[in-house]
Amino acid sequence: MLFDRIIARYKTSRPDSSPEMDLMRMQGALGVVAILPFSVWRFIQGEYTLGLIDLLIVIGMVILVALSGNRAYFRLVSLLFTLVYTVGMLTVTILKGADMLFWSYPTAVAGFFMVRLREALIISVLSLLALSYIVLDELGWLQLFSFQVSYVLVCLFSSIFSVRMARDRRRLSQEATIDPLTGAYNRRSLDDDIEKAVSNYQNRKNAVSLVLFDVDHFKQINDQFGHATGDIFLQRFVDFLKGMIREEESLYRFGGEEFVVLTNGGLEDALSLAEQARGLLEQTKLISGHYVTVSVGVAELGEIESAREWMKRADDALYRAKHSGRNRVCQAELPVDWAMIKLEELTADND
Ligand code: GH3
Ligand code: MG
Ligand code: MG
Repeated sequence: MLFDRIIARYKTSRPDSSPEMDLMRMQGALGVVAILPFSVWRFIQGEYTLGLIDLLIVIGMVILVALSGNRAYFRLVSLLFTLVYTVGMLTVTILKGADMLFWSYPTAVAGFFMVRLREALIISVLSLLALSYIVLDELGWLQLFSFQVSYVLVCLFSSIFSVRMARDRRRLSQEATIDPLTGAYNRRSLDDDIEKAVSNYQNRKNAVSLVLFDVDHFKQINDQFGHATGDIFLQRFVDFLKGMIREEESLYRFGGEEFVVLTNGGLEDALSLAEQARGLLEQTKLISGHYVTVSVGVAELGEIESAREWMKRADDALYRAKHSGRNRVCQAELPVDWAMIKLEELTADND
Protein backbone atom coordinates (compact mmCIF):
# COMPACT_ATOMS: atom_id res chain seq x y z
CA MET A 1 0.00 0.00 0.00
CA LEU A 2 1.09 3.55 -0.75
CA PHE A 3 0.71 4.59 2.90
CA ASP A 4 2.95 1.73 4.07
CA ARG A 5 5.56 2.62 1.45
CA ILE A 6 5.58 6.25 2.56
CA ILE A 7 5.94 5.21 6.21
CA ALA A 8 8.74 2.74 5.33
CA ARG A 9 10.59 5.46 3.38
CA TYR A 10 10.62 7.74 6.40
CA LYS A 11 11.16 5.06 9.02
CA THR A 12 14.84 5.41 9.79
CA SER A 13 16.55 5.19 13.10
CA ARG A 14 18.43 8.20 14.39
CA PRO A 15 20.80 8.56 17.27
CA ASP A 16 19.30 9.70 20.59
CA SER A 17 20.12 13.27 19.80
CA SER A 18 20.85 14.67 16.37
CA PRO A 19 21.27 18.28 15.22
CA GLU A 20 17.85 17.97 13.50
CA MET A 21 16.24 16.85 16.75
CA ASP A 22 17.89 19.69 18.66
CA LEU A 23 16.85 22.14 15.94
CA MET A 24 13.28 20.88 16.04
CA ARG A 25 13.09 21.24 19.82
CA MET A 26 14.60 24.71 19.59
CA GLN A 27 12.12 25.72 16.91
CA GLY A 28 9.27 24.29 18.96
CA ALA A 29 10.38 26.37 21.96
CA LEU A 30 10.87 29.46 19.76
CA GLY A 31 7.48 28.81 18.15
CA VAL A 32 5.80 28.90 21.54
CA VAL A 33 7.72 31.98 22.68
CA ALA A 34 7.45 33.92 19.38
CA ILE A 35 4.14 32.89 17.85
CA LEU A 36 1.97 32.38 20.92
CA PRO A 37 2.07 36.08 21.99
CA PHE A 38 1.04 37.02 18.40
CA SER A 39 -1.86 34.61 18.66
CA VAL A 40 -2.99 36.12 21.98
CA TRP A 41 -2.54 39.64 20.61
CA ARG A 42 -4.63 38.82 17.56
CA PHE A 43 -7.45 37.39 19.66
CA ILE A 44 -7.38 40.60 21.74
CA GLN A 45 -7.52 42.66 18.52
CA GLY A 46 -10.51 40.62 17.36
CA GLU A 47 -8.55 39.01 14.47
CA TYR A 48 -9.88 35.59 15.39
CA THR A 49 -8.90 33.76 12.19
CA LEU A 50 -5.26 34.89 12.40
CA GLY A 51 -5.19 34.21 16.13
CA LEU A 52 -6.53 30.70 15.52
CA ILE A 53 -4.00 29.98 12.74
CA ASP A 54 -1.10 31.07 14.98
CA LEU A 55 -2.50 28.92 17.77
CA LEU A 56 -2.82 25.90 15.45
CA ILE A 57 0.79 26.34 14.26
CA VAL A 58 1.99 26.39 17.86
CA ILE A 59 -0.13 23.36 18.82
CA GLY A 60 1.05 21.47 15.69
CA MET A 61 4.68 22.25 16.52
CA VAL A 62 4.35 21.21 20.16
CA ILE A 63 2.65 17.90 19.24
CA LEU A 64 5.31 17.12 16.62
CA VAL A 65 8.16 18.00 19.01
CA ALA A 66 6.59 15.61 21.52
CA LEU A 67 6.44 12.92 18.81
CA SER A 68 10.06 13.57 17.76
CA GLY A 69 11.16 11.39 20.70
CA ASN A 70 10.15 8.36 18.59
CA ARG A 71 13.39 7.87 16.71
CA ALA A 72 11.94 5.45 14.17
CA TYR A 73 9.62 8.09 12.68
CA PHE A 74 11.80 11.13 13.21
CA ARG A 75 12.16 11.92 9.50
CA LEU A 76 8.42 11.82 8.88
CA VAL A 77 7.80 13.96 11.96
CA SER A 78 10.41 16.52 10.88
CA LEU A 79 8.85 16.73 7.40
CA LEU A 80 5.40 17.31 8.93
CA PHE A 81 6.94 19.89 11.28
CA THR A 82 8.40 21.80 8.32
CA LEU A 83 5.09 21.58 6.43
CA VAL A 84 3.15 22.88 9.45
CA TYR A 85 5.05 26.12 9.75
CA THR A 86 5.39 26.55 5.98
CA VAL A 87 1.63 26.22 5.47
CA GLY A 88 1.13 28.46 8.50
CA MET A 89 3.42 31.12 7.00
CA LEU A 90 1.58 30.93 3.64
CA THR A 91 -1.83 31.20 5.28
CA VAL A 92 -0.80 34.20 7.35
CA THR A 93 0.54 35.88 4.16
CA ILE A 94 -2.76 35.21 2.38
CA LEU A 95 -4.65 36.85 5.24
CA LYS A 96 -2.28 39.73 6.08
CA GLY A 97 -0.55 40.35 2.74
CA ALA A 98 3.01 41.29 1.80
CA ASP A 99 3.92 42.53 5.30
CA MET A 100 4.23 38.89 6.30
CA LEU A 101 6.84 38.06 3.63
CA PHE A 102 9.65 38.47 6.17
CA TRP A 103 8.54 35.24 7.81
CA SER A 104 9.28 33.30 4.63
CA TYR A 105 13.07 33.64 5.20
CA PRO A 106 13.40 31.88 8.56
CA THR A 107 10.86 29.32 7.37
CA ALA A 108 12.98 28.49 4.31
CA VAL A 109 16.27 28.39 6.28
CA ALA A 110 14.85 26.04 8.92
CA GLY A 111 13.53 23.71 6.20
CA PHE A 112 17.00 23.19 4.75
CA PHE A 113 18.31 22.02 8.12
CA MET A 114 15.29 19.87 8.98
CA VAL A 115 14.51 17.74 5.92
CA ARG A 116 16.34 16.20 2.97
CA LEU A 117 17.79 18.62 0.43
CA ARG A 118 15.38 17.50 -2.28
CA GLU A 119 12.38 17.93 -0.01
CA ALA A 120 13.57 21.34 1.18
CA LEU A 121 14.09 22.46 -2.44
CA ILE A 122 10.60 21.33 -3.46
CA ILE A 123 9.01 23.03 -0.42
CA SER A 124 10.89 26.30 -0.99
CA VAL A 125 10.21 26.43 -4.76
CA LEU A 126 6.49 25.79 -4.17
CA SER A 127 6.49 28.38 -1.38
CA LEU A 128 8.17 30.96 -3.64
CA LEU A 129 5.60 30.36 -6.41
CA ALA A 130 2.71 30.54 -3.94
CA LEU A 131 4.06 33.66 -2.22
CA SER A 132 4.67 35.41 -5.57
CA TYR A 133 1.07 34.67 -6.58
CA ILE A 134 -0.32 35.83 -3.22
CA VAL A 135 1.47 39.21 -3.18
CA LEU A 136 1.51 39.81 -6.95
CA ASP A 137 -1.23 42.49 -6.86
CA GLU A 138 0.10 44.16 -3.75
CA LEU A 139 3.76 44.55 -4.79
CA GLY A 140 5.10 46.16 -7.92
CA TRP A 141 7.09 43.98 -10.32
CA LEU A 142 10.38 45.43 -9.07
CA GLN A 143 9.61 44.75 -5.43
CA LEU A 144 8.38 41.28 -6.26
CA PHE A 145 11.57 40.60 -8.20
CA SER A 146 13.70 41.81 -5.24
CA PHE A 147 11.80 39.48 -2.93
CA GLN A 148 12.25 36.54 -5.29
CA VAL A 149 16.00 37.11 -5.74
CA SER A 150 16.61 37.53 -2.01
CA TYR A 151 14.50 34.45 -1.23
CA VAL A 152 16.44 32.37 -3.78
CA LEU A 153 19.76 33.57 -2.33
CA VAL A 154 18.68 32.68 1.21
CA CYS A 155 17.70 29.19 -0.03
CA LEU A 156 20.97 28.83 -1.93
CA PHE A 157 23.16 29.71 1.08
CA SER A 158 21.06 27.53 3.38
CA SER A 159 21.35 24.56 1.05
CA ILE A 160 25.14 24.98 0.74
CA PHE A 161 25.55 25.17 4.54
CA SER A 162 23.22 22.26 5.24
CA VAL A 163 24.92 20.01 2.64
CA ARG A 164 28.36 20.87 4.02
CA MET A 165 27.21 20.32 7.58
CA ALA A 166 25.74 16.91 6.74
CA ARG A 167 28.91 15.90 4.88
CA ASP A 168 31.20 16.97 7.72
CA ARG A 169 29.01 15.17 10.23
CA ARG A 170 29.13 11.96 8.19
CA ARG A 171 32.91 12.21 7.91
CA LEU A 172 33.38 12.89 11.63
CA SER A 173 31.11 10.04 12.63
CA GLN A 174 33.00 7.73 10.28
CA GLU A 175 36.35 8.81 11.68
CA ALA A 176 35.09 8.24 15.20
CA THR A 177 33.83 4.71 14.56
CA ILE A 178 35.88 3.15 11.74
CA ASP A 179 39.45 1.84 11.82
CA PRO A 180 41.20 3.66 8.95
CA LEU A 181 43.52 0.79 7.96
CA THR A 182 41.02 -2.03 7.66
CA GLY A 183 37.59 -0.39 7.45
CA ALA A 184 36.38 -2.55 10.37
CA TYR A 185 34.64 -0.80 13.27
CA ASN A 186 37.07 0.44 15.90
CA ARG A 187 37.48 -0.32 19.59
CA ARG A 188 35.27 2.57 20.61
CA SER A 189 32.35 1.23 18.52
CA LEU A 190 32.95 -2.19 20.03
CA ASP A 191 32.68 -0.82 23.58
CA ASP A 192 29.44 1.01 22.67
CA ASP A 193 27.91 -1.96 20.87
CA ILE A 194 28.79 -4.45 23.60
CA GLU A 195 27.10 -2.20 26.17
CA LYS A 196 24.05 -1.93 23.87
CA ALA A 197 23.98 -5.71 23.36
CA VAL A 198 24.02 -6.26 27.13
CA SER A 199 21.18 -3.80 27.77
CA ASN A 200 19.14 -5.17 24.82
CA TYR A 201 19.64 -8.66 26.18
CA GLN A 202 18.22 -7.64 29.53
CA ASN A 203 15.04 -6.46 27.75
CA ARG A 204 14.58 -9.05 25.04
CA LYS A 205 16.79 -12.04 25.87
CA ASN A 206 18.06 -12.46 22.32
CA ALA A 207 21.19 -14.61 22.40
CA VAL A 208 24.40 -12.76 21.43
CA SER A 209 27.98 -13.98 21.35
CA LEU A 210 31.47 -12.59 21.07
CA VAL A 211 34.03 -14.19 18.78
CA LEU A 212 37.59 -12.95 19.43
CA PHE A 213 40.22 -13.58 16.76
CA ASP A 214 43.95 -13.12 17.32
CA VAL A 215 46.29 -13.74 14.39
CA ASP A 216 49.00 -16.26 15.31
CA HIS A 217 52.65 -15.13 15.21
CA PHE A 218 51.71 -11.97 13.37
CA LYS A 219 54.94 -10.33 14.42
CA GLN A 220 56.75 -12.84 12.22
CA ILE A 221 54.86 -11.62 9.15
CA ASN A 222 56.04 -8.08 9.85
CA ASP A 223 59.58 -9.30 10.48
CA GLN A 224 59.70 -11.57 7.45
CA PHE A 225 57.76 -9.58 4.83
CA GLY A 226 57.77 -6.03 6.19
CA HIS A 227 55.20 -3.87 7.94
CA ALA A 228 53.44 -2.91 4.67
CA THR A 229 52.73 -6.58 3.91
CA GLY A 230 51.50 -6.95 7.49
CA ASP A 231 49.06 -4.12 6.80
CA ILE A 232 47.89 -5.78 3.58
CA PHE A 233 47.34 -9.00 5.48
CA LEU A 234 45.18 -7.19 8.06
CA GLN A 235 43.08 -5.62 5.31
CA ARG A 236 42.59 -8.96 3.56
CA PHE A 237 41.83 -10.69 6.84
CA VAL A 238 39.05 -8.18 7.50
CA ASP A 239 37.59 -8.79 4.01
CA PHE A 240 37.90 -12.52 4.64
CA LEU A 241 35.98 -12.29 7.93
CA LYS A 242 33.39 -9.88 6.52
CA GLY A 243 32.64 -12.47 3.85
CA MET A 244 31.78 -14.98 6.58
CA ILE A 245 29.50 -12.99 8.85
CA ARG A 246 25.84 -12.08 8.38
CA GLU A 247 24.96 -8.66 7.04
CA GLU A 248 23.48 -7.51 10.36
CA GLU A 249 26.57 -8.62 12.30
CA SER A 250 29.56 -6.36 12.81
CA LEU A 251 33.31 -6.79 12.77
CA TYR A 252 35.59 -4.72 14.99
CA ARG A 253 39.34 -4.22 15.21
CA PHE A 254 40.00 -4.71 18.89
CA GLY A 255 43.77 -4.22 18.86
CA GLY A 256 46.68 -4.48 16.42
CA GLU A 257 45.93 -7.97 15.05
CA GLU A 258 42.92 -8.78 17.17
CA PHE A 259 39.40 -8.69 15.80
CA VAL A 260 35.97 -9.27 17.27
CA VAL A 261 32.68 -10.35 15.72
CA LEU A 262 29.51 -9.63 17.64
CA THR A 263 27.11 -12.33 16.48
CA ASN A 264 23.34 -12.56 16.78
CA GLY A 265 23.07 -16.08 18.09
CA GLY A 266 24.03 -18.51 20.81
CA LEU A 267 27.28 -20.33 21.55
CA GLU A 268 26.71 -23.09 18.95
CA ASP A 269 26.34 -20.60 16.09
CA ALA A 270 29.33 -18.59 17.23
CA LEU A 271 31.52 -21.68 17.62
CA SER A 272 30.57 -22.82 14.14
CA LEU A 273 31.50 -19.42 12.67
CA ALA A 274 34.81 -19.45 14.57
CA GLU A 275 35.68 -23.00 13.46
CA GLN A 276 34.69 -22.27 9.86
CA ALA A 277 36.88 -19.14 9.77
CA ARG A 278 39.81 -20.87 11.46
CA GLY A 279 39.62 -23.91 9.16
CA LEU A 280 39.32 -21.86 5.98
CA LEU A 281 42.12 -19.48 6.93
CA GLU A 282 44.65 -22.26 7.46
CA GLN A 283 44.09 -23.28 3.83
CA THR A 284 44.09 -19.76 2.37
CA LYS A 285 47.11 -17.71 1.44
CA LEU A 286 46.02 -14.15 2.21
CA ILE A 287 49.54 -13.02 1.38
CA SER A 288 51.53 -14.87 -1.24
CA GLY A 289 53.75 -17.69 -0.10
CA HIS A 290 52.57 -17.83 3.50
CA TYR A 291 49.78 -19.51 5.41
CA VAL A 292 48.64 -17.72 8.53
CA THR A 293 46.53 -19.20 11.30
CA VAL A 294 44.30 -17.67 13.91
CA SER A 295 43.33 -18.49 17.51
CA VAL A 296 39.78 -17.82 18.59
CA GLY A 297 37.91 -17.34 21.87
CA VAL A 298 34.10 -17.54 21.92
CA ALA A 299 31.65 -16.48 24.66
CA GLU A 300 27.87 -16.23 24.70
CA LEU A 301 26.47 -13.43 26.83
CA GLY A 302 25.27 -14.74 30.17
CA GLU A 303 22.06 -13.83 31.96
CA ILE A 304 23.58 -11.83 34.78
CA GLU A 305 26.74 -10.61 33.20
CA SER A 306 28.20 -7.17 32.58
CA ALA A 307 29.87 -6.18 29.32
CA ARG A 308 33.25 -6.30 31.02
CA GLU A 309 32.74 -9.81 32.42
CA TRP A 310 31.53 -11.07 29.05
CA MET A 311 34.58 -9.65 27.27
CA LYS A 312 36.87 -11.04 29.95
CA ARG A 313 35.46 -14.57 29.49
CA ALA A 314 35.97 -14.36 25.71
CA ASP A 315 39.51 -13.06 26.25
CA ASP A 316 40.30 -15.88 28.69
CA ALA A 317 39.05 -18.40 26.12
CA LEU A 318 41.33 -16.83 23.51
CA TYR A 319 44.22 -17.02 25.95
CA ARG A 320 43.56 -20.74 26.39
CA ALA A 321 43.45 -21.21 22.61
CA LYS A 322 46.86 -19.50 22.36
CA HIS A 323 48.40 -21.47 25.15
CA SER A 324 47.11 -24.83 24.05
CA GLY A 325 48.97 -24.60 20.77
CA ARG A 326 47.34 -21.82 18.65
CA ASN A 327 45.26 -22.34 15.47
CA ARG A 328 42.28 -23.45 17.53
CA VAL A 329 38.92 -22.33 18.90
CA CYS A 330 38.14 -22.35 22.63
CA GLN A 331 34.80 -21.64 24.21
CA ALA A 332 34.50 -19.58 27.37
CA GLU A 333 33.79 -21.19 30.67
CA LEU A 334 30.66 -20.27 32.56
CA PRO A 335 31.27 -18.11 35.62
CA VAL A 336 30.85 -20.19 38.78
CA ASP A 337 27.94 -18.18 40.25
CA TRP A 338 26.12 -18.19 36.91
CA ALA A 339 26.54 -21.95 36.57
CA MET A 340 25.13 -22.33 40.11
CA ILE A 341 22.07 -20.26 39.20
CA LYS A 342 21.50 -22.39 36.08
CA LEU A 343 21.81 -25.52 38.18
CA GLU A 344 19.29 -24.20 40.70
CA GLU A 345 16.89 -23.31 37.87
CA LEU A 346 17.20 -26.79 36.40
CA THR A 347 16.65 -28.43 39.80
CA ALA A 348 13.59 -26.22 40.40
CA ASP A 349 12.20 -27.15 36.94
CA ASN A 350 12.61 -30.84 37.66
CA ASP A 351 10.88 -30.60 41.07
P1 GH3 B 1 50.68 -14.50 19.12
O1 GH3 B 1 50.56 -15.72 18.30
O2 GH3 B 1 51.08 -14.79 20.53
O3 GH3 B 1 49.46 -13.65 19.05
O4 GH3 B 1 51.89 -13.67 18.51
P2 GH3 B 1 51.86 -12.34 17.70
O5 GH3 B 1 53.18 -12.10 17.07
O6 GH3 B 1 50.68 -12.32 16.78
O7 GH3 B 1 51.52 -11.29 18.85
P3 GH3 B 1 52.32 -10.07 19.40
O8 GH3 B 1 51.33 -9.39 20.34
O9 GH3 B 1 53.62 -10.49 19.95
O10 GH3 B 1 52.56 -9.13 18.16
C1 GH3 B 1 51.57 -8.45 17.51
C2 GH3 B 1 52.24 -7.65 16.45
O11 GH3 B 1 51.28 -6.98 15.65
C3 GH3 B 1 53.17 -6.61 16.97
C4 GH3 B 1 52.88 -5.36 16.17
O12 GH3 B 1 54.03 -4.82 15.60
C5 GH3 B 1 51.96 -5.85 15.10
N1 GH3 B 1 50.99 -4.86 14.71
C6 GH3 B 1 50.10 -4.21 15.50
N2 GH3 B 1 49.37 -3.35 14.75
C7 GH3 B 1 49.82 -3.44 13.47
C8 GH3 B 1 49.46 -2.79 12.25
O13 GH3 B 1 48.57 -1.94 12.19
N3 GH3 B 1 50.13 -3.15 11.14
C9 GH3 B 1 51.12 -4.08 11.18
N4 GH3 B 1 51.72 -4.38 10.04
N5 GH3 B 1 51.50 -4.69 12.31
C10 GH3 B 1 50.86 -4.38 13.44
MG1 MG C 1 47.51 -10.02 20.01
MG1 MG D 1 48.71 -12.45 17.61
